[in-house]
Amino acid sequence: MQKGALGWRHDGLRVVLVPTMGALHAGHTGLIRRARKLAGAKGLVVVSIYVNPAQFNDARDLRDYPRTLARDKKLCRAEGVNVVFAPSEMYAPDASVFVEETAVACGMEGDSRPGHFRGVATIVVKLFNLVMPEVAVFGEKDWQQTTLLKRVVRDLDLSVLIKTVPTVREPDGLAVSSRNVRLNGSQRSQAAVLWQAIGLARKAVRSGSLRGLKQKVRLFIEKQPDTRVEYVEFFDEQTMKPTKPQRGVRMALAAYIGGTRLIDNARI
Ligand code: AMP
Repeated sequence: MQKGALGWRHDGLRVVLVPTMGALHAGHTGLIRRARKLAGAKGLVVVSIYVNPAQFNDARDLRDYPRTLARDKKLCRAEGVNVVFAPSEMYAPDASVFVEETAVACGMEGDSRPGHFRGVATIVVKLFNLVMPEVAVFGEKDWQQTTLLKRVVRDLDLSVLIKTVPTVREPDGLAVSSRNVRLNGSQRSQAAVLWQAIGLARKAVRSGSLRGLKQKVRLFIEKQPDTRVEYVEFFDEQTMKPTKPQRGVRMALAAYIGGTRLIDNARI
């Protein structure tokens, strides 16, 4: 991969990277289309597909993560992706160097999934070093992750520009996710409650009824029989510091629907 990337650099080609874990869906397609716009017709869009064990804190989640490489390659071809980079292994067996961000990683996903962001930051830096892109594209769906990666780029002086794409949603508002395929029919209907909960918080902020809002949101979600909320948080979308709910603040939540853990976020 790196040899190829050095050749592209030498030839002055603009390279745009879309890192993914595969099981590609409409959210990824949005990223790929943005990447093509950024690369231009002559540039190269590289999609990496790698289910990164280092970012999974739950062995069952890693085992059950959907893997659909043949289908993913077809989708990439149809979208005009130039290169699919799908390594089977990315780490030396005795790998001992990791990238750790220590501010944005606190709270929410960082607290709920110990080691998760260390795995994410490490794999993304490795991908940047292998593909050497000018630009990399990430989704707002994972707001904390994207914010953290901007920090990694800033604080390690990496020469990559990070661009973000708004969350792609199903008609009922559910954020498209590779994990959605694990939901059965009833769970899939219940999952719409996550987006409705964000709507509830938005309404509350506009009407000024903010007392106990976190708890109200939790109870609203858990009215569905198969749901369990892990966190509901309001935070400043730049600093990531928790804050009171108000207009312009971002809200994020994580919840289990049956055995499947889903996350979502939006500005309220
Ligand atoms: P994943 O394959 O889930 O690791 O995601 C790869 C990239 O796609 C990340 O930058 C995600 O934020 C982004 N992504 C995943 N789902 C969506 C979505 N529904 N809308 C926009 N971007 C997404």
